[in-house]
Amino acid sequence: MTTGNAATPETDAFTRPYWDAAADGHLLIRRCGDCGRAHHYPREFCPHCWSDDVVWERASGRATLYTWSVVHRNDLPPFGDRTPYTAAVVDLAEGPRMMTEITGCAETDLRIGMALEVAFRGEEGAPAVPVFRPLLS
Ligand SMILES: [Zn+2]
Repeated sequence: MTTGNAATPETDAFTRPYWDAAADGHLLIRRCGDCGRAHHYPREFCPHCWSDDVVWERASGRATLYTWSVVHRNDLPPFGDRTPYTAAVVDLAEGPRMMTEITGCAETDLRIGMALEVAFRGEEGAPAVPVFRPLLS
């Protein structure tokens, strides 16, 4: 592996709080102290106003489905063993848009705008990764 893409999340000193929280079942986002906007994925500077007054914040874990695509083939490990799966973009309740995966929902039941909640998929030797499932309320 030569890249730090989604296949195997890399942790470093900056993102360690994010992965530590994920291991405990919490999704963290970053919020700017200057403009007040939240963002995701985590960055050291606010992508909206470039302030470095940015802190970690525990997200509610609620989101709505923006769009999705069912992936039937992916040759990049470990995704090949998981197909088909639902790659998605969701809008977090706090505002940021996030690329993720939907679990626990049949393709035919997916609806734009449907309510979702975060779940975490842990795998041997790898950080827990946030995925989303239908919100049961
Ligand atoms: Zn800002």
